[in-house]
Order: sequence, then C-alpha cells, then structure tokens
Amino acid sequence: MALGKLYVVSGPSGAGKSTVCKEVRKILGINLSVSATSRSPREGEKDGVDYYFLTVKEFEDKIKNNEFLEYAKVHNNYYGTLKSEVEKRLENGEKIILEIDVQGGIQVKEKFPDARLIFFKTPSKEDLEKRLRGRQTDSEETIALRLKNSLKELEYEKEYEFIVINNEIKQACKDLIDIIEK
Ligand code: 5GP
Repeated sequence: MALGKLYVVSGPSGAGKSTVCKEVRKILGINLSVSATSRSPREGEKDGVDYYFLTVKEFEDKIKNNEFLEYAKVHNNYYGTLKSEVEKRLENGEKIILEIDVQGGIQVKEKFPDARLIFFKTPSKEDLEKRLRGRQTDSEETIALRLKNSLKELEYEKEYEFIVINNEIKQACKDLIDIIEK
C-alpha cells in the first residue's frame, strides 16, 4: 500500500494556522492528529480533542519511552506529536496535517524528507500583534511571551518550502489545498 504523506504547518501563534487547518481538514476529509502538551487547557478545550493534556512528568516519561515522533518546548511548555497518532495512518496511506512549531517541523523533515513544510504568516508584524491581542483568552504576560517567540519563529521561514500569507481565510484555505494536492 502507498505510504501516506505528512504536511507540516508552522508559523507564529496568531497567524491563523488552526482556523485554516480545521477548515481544510473538513474540506479534504483529513483526520486530526492530536498533539500532547504540558500546558494547561484553555477555556473550552477538551482533553483528547484539542490536545492530550499531560503533566510535565507524564510528558517526560513519554519522551523516555520514545513515544514521540517529534517534540519541543514552546512558550515554556512541552508540545509533541505522538507516534501513535501518525504511524498507523501513514501506513494506511492517509494524509496528515501536523500543526507544530518550527523546531518540531525541522525534526519531522529530518525523519521524513518527503514531508511538505508549509509556513503560515500574517501580512505584517503589526497584524500579528493585533491578532494575538484579539485572542482574549491569554494574559498580558502570555501575549508578550508569545509575541517575542513569534518574532523568533519568523526567522525559520527560510527552512520551509511553501509560504502562505494569511490575509484572508478563504484564500489561505485555497492556498493550503493547492499545496496539499500539488
Ligand atoms: P497553543 O498553545 O497556542 O495551542 O500552541 C502553541 C504552539 O505550539 C503553536 O505554535 C503550535 O503550532 C505548537 N504545537 C502544537 N502542537 C505541537 C506539537 O505536537 N509539536 C510541536 N513541536 N509544536 C506544537
């Protein structure tokens, strides 16, 4: 059976990756790969749906057991893709979209040179700040940290083969679909 394919979507927090990926998964019938994280759930987030919410100890045990395809520390918390979310589905020929940070994206590319790396960004840095501030679930301290990390994240754009500028959601969905179906 043909192996499936991995699509890595990265880019600063606030660039609208989640909204676009959710829509594109729906349109193309692609299943979600649920990541694990040691951060606390935001209001409305559900364990096993938005993330597998783990304690730091649980996360570190899984690192020791070699259960992650990739993992990284982002905004002071662990985030990682579990092999169990991906391997069987790749063997079944499925397409998988991973919404992960740039450190994770580079790890995936090393393990799966065929993976397509797609970088999402806002039209400008000012837009990015506006969008991060518009997300009222985060404290001022968290926003400041995310903004700082997001600007750092932009430096990794050159490692990515495809760039999507998310100016308008419909167009960004179309751009992502074109890249996946190319
Ligand atoms: P958030 O806390 O806003 O849900 O996510 C923060 C950052 O963590 C985002 O940039 C997101 O792409 C990244 N992230 C989410 N899941 C994973 C993962 O499984 N692995 C890695 N490396 N990063 C992830």
